[in-house]
Amino acid sequence: MSEKILELNNVVFSFKTYAGLVHAVRGVSFEVRKGEILGIVGESGCGKSVTAQSILRLNPEPPGFFEGGEILFKGQDIIKMNNKQLRNIRGKDIGFIFQDPMTSLNPTMRVGEQIEEVFIGTGTPKAEVRIKALNIMRLVGINDPERRFMQYPHELSGGMKQRIMIAIALVSRPSLIICDEPTTSLDVTIEAQILDLLLELREKLGTSIIMITHDLGVIARLCDRVVVMYGGKVAEQGTSEDIFFDTAHPYTSGLLKSIARLDMERNQVLTPIEGTPPDLFAPPKGCPFAARCEYAMSVCYEYEPSKTTLTEEHSTYCWLQHDLAPEVDLIVEKREA
Ligand code: SF4
Repeated sequence: MSEKILELNNVVFSFKTYAGLVHAVRGVSFEVRKGEILGIVGESGCGKSVTAQSILRLNPEPPGFFEGGEILFKGQDIIKMNNKQLRNIRGKDIGFIFQDPMTSLNPTMRVGEQIEEVFIGTGTPKAEVRIKALNIMRLVGINDPERRFMQYPHELSGGMKQRIMIAIALVSRPSLIICDEPTTSLDVTIEAQILDLLLELREKLGTSIIMITHDLGVIARLCDRVVVMYGGKVAEQGTSEDIFFDTAHPYTSGLLKSIARLDMERNQVLTPIEGTPPDLFAPPKGCPFAARCEYAMSVCYEYEPSKTTLTEEHSTYCWLQHDLAPEVDLIVEKREA
């Protein structure tokens, strides 16, 4: 098992609102290892983006605040860092790529100059800045970088803008890049190109990547390990093979049944997960998935399931793993991984 570079231990993050406290992240723990791609998947409102943004303290504080836990990056707790320490890791040790590149790019500046500005911020000598900006544009697969350098964001396609964002994120060669649904607004062909680019960058530079997505197709294509989140909590985590072929949580199983697969029968219908996610103003006291779970038992409504470790990599939070629970088959498709 390779070296850990990031570790979240029981992180609890909430927002104070006029209507009360929103318990967005409720005791989340996972780790990211050197050179791996970790996927965090779940429906909208499951807490995946708040979790990802809390790693760089990007959620507004206030109204957001940490109620507990620690986020250790190379051994230092990000939750305890002051503004100066945070500035030192943001964009330098940890990069962040947002869903919509237009929210991060300055519409009034040429894209090349925006990359140059980041190089200048890292202390690169002025004489080298242009060459380095063009080189990093080539690294992220931008053809004819001299011409692209002079263009404004509105002159570029969505995929090209996202490549510019990836180039900016790579300037200081961060050891970790967090991608928050970076391909959601792109069409499938461009999405595939961006995912291939991320894989290539991991191979070439050894960068660790956290990929936040609601799309299991993105997970299958990219990720080594996966954290499945529901109701502000981790429901299951394991290798991609564990999640797709040895599913241990009914929510993961529900997600898998709700997506189209190449090996499906022609007339096979997709099965959506009935119901809606829990109200995070007043989360249920038992299992957060109980109201939607076809296997829910009386214990599920009363007590939160504790963690069950299935293998060194695979764990889940579900009462079905208890010795007294009935046997159910959650595996969507039994086949060779
Ligand atoms: Fe379903 Fe109970 Fe497992 Fe929750 S703990 S996922 S309600 S079986």
